[in-house]
Amino acid sequence: MKKILVTGWAGFIWSHLCKKLLDQWHEVICLDNLFTGTKNNIYDIINNPRFTFVLHDITQPFRAQVDEIYNLACPASPIHYQKNPVETIRTSIVWAINMLDLANKVKAKILQTSTSEVYGDPLEHPQRESYRGNVNPIGTRSCYDEGKRATETLFMDYHREYGVDIRIIRIFNTYGPNMHPEDGRVVSNFIMQALTNQDITMYGTGEQTRSFQYIDDLIEWMIKMMNNEQWFIWPVNIWTEFEFTMKELAQTITKLIPGNTSNIIYKPLPSDDPKQRRANNQLAKEKLGREPKIWLEEGLKNTIEYFKRFI
Ligand code: UDP
Repeated sequence: MKKILVTGWAGFIWSHLCKKLLDQWHEVICLDNLFTGTKNNIYDIINNPRFTFVLHDITQPFRAQVDEIYNLACPASPIHYQKNPVETIRTSIVWAINMLDLANKVKAKILQTSTSEVYGDPLEHPQRESYRGNVNPIGTRSCYDEGKRATETLFMDYHREYGVDIRIIRIFNTYGPNMHPEDGRVVSNFIMQALTNQDITMYGTGEQTRSFQYIDDLIEWMIKMMNNEQWFIWPVNIWTEFEFTMKELAQTITKLIPGNTSNIIYKPLPSDDPKQRRANNQLAKEKLGREPKIWLEEGLKNTIEYFKRFI
């Protein structure tokens, strides 16, 4: 049994990770200030005797003797992180420093959940980890993108300067149960709109692409990365192999909801919205040795079932 600290916002990925770690009989401590998350996501684990929830101001240092730290602290949906941009970049950087100091002090392993956003609006396709990206440093997405890029720098420097045992993963678009219905991201928006027969809000032409990954696949890969014994620390893309346009996503979702009568309405594309996103996942395959198990339709079916409780 390990003692594991998970930082985050009582959010979507966080709730699945905590549940999985508890199922593996670890002791889990969570820190959160409930900025974008909701306590709903922790009701089913809060009574577990191996789970401790700490309401904590993330800008303040935290001390605990732990074996591993998963650093998830940062709102990830564009509409949320752009509402409080200063808080977003502060959270990324200050919290990473606090957690890296803790990891250094107690000799814990620490995993950073970075993002495909570090590639910005990529000019290289598909994106390999060695691609340095095309990020606007002063745009409305920059608070998130640059915060995550700076955090990767901090992780590498703590490793080089102090020998901290780090891991960095770059997460691509992930979806599944426990997403907030008003999260604002494309999968939750389209499903909620389709379930209630409202117009589907397509930003731009709908030809922009993303690679979607089901939450269970991400969690397996994340834990595998933390536990890899090869001293493999480098940023690794975590994603499924397929690339979909937003139009294809809308078609797949409406097809899975019998009797749906939604129309697609077109809205302006948000600034700096990446046009094409698809990662090269060779490194993940080579180092972590697994394939995604849940394909888009199956994952969307599970997610649609979950969202039915909100209508
Ligand atoms: N998007 C859309 N309609 C929505 C929400 C998002 O067309 O109601 C588009 C958005 O412009 C982007 C893609 O879907 O091109 C994915 O958006 P999301 O916010 O889910 O993730 P991110 O842009 O961070 O990859």
